[in-house]
Amino acid sequence: MSYPCNGGIGEQTVLIPEHLSNKVRQLALPGMSTDILSRLSAGSVLIAGVQSSGLVAAKYLVEAGVGKVWLVDEDPKALSAAYKSVEGLSESEVLCRAWKVDGHDAESIFSQSDVIIDGLANWQEKLLVSDVCMHIGKPLVHAGGSGFRYQLFTMCPSRSACLRCAFPLAGIDDVPLQPPEHKSIATVLGIVGAWQALESIKLIAKIGAIQGNELTKIDWLSGEFETIRGLDPRKDCPDCGRAAKS
Ligand SMILES: [Zn+2]
Repeated sequence: MSYPCNGGIGEQTVLIPEHLSNKVRQLALPGMSTDILSRLSAGSVLIAGVQSSGLVAAKYLVEAGVGKVWLVDEDPKALSAAYKSVEGLSESEVLCRAWKVDGHDAESIFSQSDVIIDGLANWQEKLLVSDVCMHIGKPLVHAGGSGFRYQLFTMCPSRSACLRCAFPLAGIDDVPLQPPEHKSIATVLGIVGAWQALESIKLIAKIGAIQGNELTKIDWLSGEFETIRGLDPRKDCPDCGRAAKS
């Protein structure tokens, strides 16, 4: 069941003066145009999991003026808190859905958005979301890790390996069955969430470059960045291989 939290923002888009000035400021940035802003306001992003990096991503997506932002989480309290933290930041329509990731209705829920953000802690759910996104051809902006170490991967069906294939290719063999024990400090989640929001904005606005077959590992304590390239679809995979052929 979907519902707008606390009554939602409403169906009509109301451009109040501070939102207008925000758009004017964005237009003044190098490389921005009215076409790009139009694509942003026509775009939609679904954030699966709003209790860590997903919450940060939501804030930046709403501030950027993405037309519709779906907040999805199994915890209604977390949903309500997330909604309250982003409502009114812009004219974006923010919608909430209390839902635990499962394979039954994931396709119909994800199909409503242009981009899916992985803000989940449960690795089985992450892999399931990857399967669904591959099947319906939606890009998935993945982030996973714990403590100060994360990997980031923007998965584009037909150009990317799925998460199940990408992890072993990237040397990530021990996908945990349980959520990580070592939680991250807000600073790390802030960087991860901002990264995910920016990748989503690039996809929707059609700006910049997204290789689709590159995964970045980051250790913010040591300052080491490693990019693993060549994560192409695997022909023998029923998920990414089939997406590449279609
Ligand atoms: Zn695959």
